Amino acid sequence: MAGWCTIQYLSPGKIIKLQDRLLRNFIRNQIPYNPFYYKLFKKNKINFSGIKTTEDLKKLPFTAKEDIAPTEKQPEKSLDFVLQPNKQLISRYASLNKKIKIIFNKNQLYHEYKPCHIHFTTGRTANATPVFYTAYDMQRLEESGRRMINVLDVSANDIVINAFPYAPHLAFWQTFYAAKGTNLLCLHTGGGKILGTDKIIKSIEGMKANCLAGMPGYLYHLIRTAKERKSNFRNLNLVVFGGERVAPGLRDKVKSDLASAGSENPRVLSTYAFTEGKAAWVECNEESGYHLYPDFEFIEVVDKNGERVNEGEKGEIVYTSLDWRGSVFLRYKTGDITKGLYYEKCHHCGRTLPRIDAAIERSSEYREFALTKIKGSFVNLNAFFSIMAHKGIEEWQVEIRKKNNDPYEIDELVVYVAPKKKANFEKLKNELKNKIIAETEVTPAIVKAELKALLQKLGMETELKEKRIVDNRKKI
Ligand SMILES: [Zn+2]
Repeated sequence: MAGWCTIQYLSPGKIIKLQDRLLRNFIRNQIPYNPFYYKLFKKNKINFSGIKTTEDLKKLPFTAKEDIAPTEKQPEKSLDFVLQPNKQLISRYASLNKKIKIIFNKNQLYHEYKPCHIHFTTGRTANATPVFYTAYDMQRLEESGRRMINVLDVSANDIVINAFPYAPHLAFWQTFYAAKGTNLLCLHTGGGKILGTDKIIKSIEGMKANCLAGMPGYLYHLIRTAKERKSNFRNLNLVVFGGERVAPGLRDKVKSDLASAGSENPRVLSTYAFTEGKAAWVECNEESGYHLYPDFEFIEVVDKNGERVNEGEKGEIVYTSLDWRGSVFLRYKTGDITKGLYYEKCHHCGRTLPRIDAAIERSSEYREFALTKIKGSFVNLNAFFSIMAHKGIEEWQVEIRKKNNDPYEIDELVVYVAPKKKANFEKLKNELKNKIIAETEVTPAIVKAELKALLQKLGMETELKEKRIVDNRKKI
C-alpha cells in the first residue's frame, strides 16, 4: 500500500481508484466475517462481490446508531459489528493467497482479529457502545496519530501536554498514540479530574510546553485560570481541541487569554472524530476543514432523503470503514451535519486529501438534548452554544427544570451566566434574553452566577465532560 507521503498528494482520480480497490477487497475478504453485515447482505440479496466501487455502496442500506447501541434486551448487540472469522468462513470467503497465509499463520490471525483495546461512545443517557480494536487496528491508530502530527506541523522537539480526560475514549488514546508514534515528549495528564488544573498549568510552565491538547470547554477554563494567575505560557504556540464540538467564538476567546498568558501568535486548531470512525482527523489551518485519510475510510455526505449531495453541499456525514479490523461499519450515519465535503486541493497546505468543512453541527453529541420540548415547543439546544459565545460571558450553564420542582408544573429555562469582569450585566442580560427568545421562542430566566460556584456546577474539575446543559425535569 502507498505510504502517507504519497497518499496525501494523490490526484482525485487516483484517490477514487484507491478507495474503490480497498472497498472491493474489504467487502469481499472481511465483511463476511461480520455477523451484522453478513445478515444484512443476505437479507437485501447483495453479493459480497457485487460492491466494486464506492458508487456501488449506494446499494447498501444505512447503519444507524440504534443498530449498534446496546439495549436492555440486546446488551451484546455491538459485538455483531466485530469481524469474527472462523475456519468455515475463512475457507469459504478468504481469497486463495490470504487463505493460505491465515491458516498457516496463527499469529497473524491473532494480530489481525483478536480484540485487544476498547473505546466507548460518550452518550450520556444511552448505553455506551464499545468499539473494539485489534493489534492491526492499534498500528493504524498510531499511524493516524502520526498523520495528525504531520498535518498539524508539530516538530520533533516540541513538547506536548495531553489534557484529555483519562477514559476509554478516542480523544485521550489518539493523543497518546500520536505522541508515541512520533516519539514526542508528552505528559498525559488525564485532565482536570486526574492531575488537576493546578498541576497541569505548572507542567505547561515548567516543561515549557509548545502544544496543548484537550476538550474545548476545559482548555478554555485552564487557559483562563493561567491568565488570572499570571502564568507564563510563552512557549505554548499550538492548542488542539478535540472530543467535542468547538463553539463558535471560543477560538477567539482562547486566543485572547493565551495572549495575556504570554503566548505569541498561537495557532488554535481542532480535530473531528466519532468513536465508530476509530481515528481522528485534524485541520492544518483554521479555515482548512478536517483532512481525511482516504485509505482508512470512505466518507459521503447525504441529504435528508439519504441521497448523496454534491461537493461542498450541506448534509449528514456517513462513514464507511476501509481496511480496519475489530469493529467495522458500513454507511454509518453519524448524525453530524457538515457544511460540505471538499475534494479540491487544500489552499493552505497543498494536500489533496478530501476535507470535511469544520462547521459541523454535532447533533449526536447532545442527541437526547438536541431537540427537546420546552413549554410545548421544540427547542434546538445546540443554539445555545453560539448564543453563549458572547464576548461578555466567562462561563454559562443552561438548566431546564419544572417550576417549584413539581413534575406537573410548567417547564422553566434557566440560564446561569458568570459575566466577564468588565461586562455590564443588565445590558448582557437583555441581549441574551432577546437572542434566546428569537432562537428558541422560550423566555429564559437569566441568573447571574459567581464564576467559582458555576465552575463547580459545571463539574470542570470533577466530570469527564462539563455539564453544559442540564435537564432536571423529573419524569412522571
Ligand atoms: Zn491543509
